[in-house]
Amino acid sequence: MARRYTCHIATQRNTSKQGRKLLEQLARIGPFLPASLTVTKKRCGRKACRCAQEGPIHPTAHVTWKERGETKTLHVPQELIEEVTQWVDTWKKLKKLSQQMGREQRRHLQELKKNLRD
Ligand SMILES: [Zn+2]
Repeated sequence: MARRYTCHIATQRNTSKQGRKLLEQLARIGPFLPASLTVTKKRCGRKACRCAQEGPIHPTAHVTWKERGETKTLHVPQELIEEVTQWVDTWKKLKKLSQQMGREQRRHLQELKKNLRD
């Protein structure tokens, strides 16, 4: 059977108006990092620092993610925490958009099936 349309182009046939809106948002997505970011505080280890007395005060950050069931971790230098936070936030946004697209396409499939019967 010949393909009637190309799957990578959004049309009125292969998705709904809402689906096309979601695809536009997906197309504009920036760099993302599928990981979770943990920011904690630590002691620096210098005896003269006030953290030796007062407890951990130095921000430290890690990203963790799973690779073939194994948890991996990577240290994030303080200067990059803000930027990496953005990447991880973009990943959350992408996941949300992807779930919305799934709901929309399932709904669209129901519509297409209905039209087949008419
Ligand atoms: Zn310190």
